[in-house]
Amino acid sequence: MLLLEKSPELLSKVTLSGGGRCNVTHHCFDVKKLVRNYPRGERELIGPYHRFQPKDTVEWYESRGVPLKVEEDGRMFPVSDSSASIVNCLRDEAEKAGVRVVARCGLRSFDVQPGGGFTLNLSNGTSVEADRLLLATGGNKATAGYRLAASAGHTIEPPAPSLFSFNIEDPSLHALAGISVPLAEVSAPKQKLAQTGPLLITHWGLSGPAALKLSAWGAREFAECDYSFDVVVAWHPGPREVLAAEFAKMRAGHPRRVVVGTAMEFPSRLWEWFCRRAEIPADRQWAQLGKTVENRLCDEIFACRLRVHGKSMYKDEFVTCGGTRLSEVDFRTMESKICPGLYFAGELLDIDAVTGGFNFQAAWTTGWIAGHAMVAHGA
Ligand SMILES: Cc1cc2nc3c(=O)[nH]c(=O)nc-3n(C[C@H](O)[C@H](O)[C@H](O)COP(=O)(O)OP(=O)(O)OC[C@H]3O[C@@H](n4cnc5c(N)ncnc54)[C@H](O)[C@@H]3O)c2cc1C
Repeated sequence: MLLLEKSPELLSKVTLSGGGRCNVTHHCFDVKKLVRNYPRGERELIGPYHRFQPKDTVEWYESRGVPLKVEEDGRMFPVSDSSASIVNCLRDEAEKAGVRVVARCGLRSFDVQPGGGFTLNLSNGTSVEADRLLLATGGNKATAGYRLAASAGHTIEPPAPSLFSFNIEDPSLHALAGISVPLAEVSAPKQKLAQTGPLLITHWGLSGPAALKLSAWGAREFAECDYSFDVVVAWHPGPREVLAAEFAKMRAGHPRRVVVGTAMEFPSRLWEWFCRRAEIPADRQWAQLGKTVENRLCDEIFACRLRVHGKSMYKDEFVTCGGTRLSEVDFRTMESKICPGLYFAGELLDIDAVTGGFNFQAAWTTGWIAGHAMVAHGA
């Protein structure tokens, strides 16, 4: 068994992943719930996840001496908090299985032999014969992966970045960088998409789980409009009436207090920003806050419209939407339906997920299924 790696380092993304800790998988063992985290691949992954899911990933690593732990938000990391544990485990397993690893050697092209099998043309100028071939070249546009898949007759769904934060050209928002709210809803009305979760204001615009999840679900639509679109933010979980009742209490209980100085449950600078956008003068007291202005304030809190102009990658932790068309792959084996003997795994497929360990899980599962099927095929 031969493993070709075109870069000098095996598993370099795993090394970098999760800020060096490697978010291996997610503590979600219910397949129905699990697949909801995949904007692309949701339906196709149901079968594979019934065979190898996060619970199996945990067992796979633990039985090889790498225990995993779960964090409050469900992300799972090695107990060592070091991606090296994962990298070393995978390397050791490959060695035990007798895999010959050749680094700094890429697959440039391959020829399909008339009677089955492949001739692999390598970047060092040599050729190798193989009965079966697994393409797991990742979602990087710059690598040959998409070209290799297309050369075997596969359709490539156009690649577009996923998992990005939203650039918003509003210096008054940038001045709030670092402020977050625990539960917001961010929607893109034109695209008819909405996501909830913690939301973070950055020096460029909006980030945090709610924004990143929205970027994943809208990856294709946002690319099509060149990352110029409106988002509407509800900075409070609502409902609106709950906050209106709080305002009524302030009016009755503290009529002389200035509105701008009463941040309710919001960070005070964010509250001041709402008040400025609602054009509430700095000395306006609760007793003087008329219904029209109160409605304007509620609109800023529950339907704050912001214009996105461009995107920024989140801690470089991006994935690619797009890749090998899923209907052309048999998900029972990960074998191509077009080119017998050719298999696929990982991000080269048109599969991607929100953050949280789901992207690696798709790679582990498709790799595990492809590996088993390739061995069975050769038996
Ligand atoms: C910085 C960063 C951090 C991330 N952190 C997480 C995380 O914590 N949890 C999570 O779930 N997801 C994370 N992701 C996403 C996750 O890393 C990917 O989804 C996953 O690595 C995909 O695995 P893969 O094997 O398909 O591709 P890759 O990991 O990209 O591996 C593909 C390999 O193929 C090699 N290659 C490419 N072309 C050729 C060729 N022609 N011949 C030979 N070799 C070739 C490449 O050099 C590369 O080593 C992160 C992504 C990034 C960029």
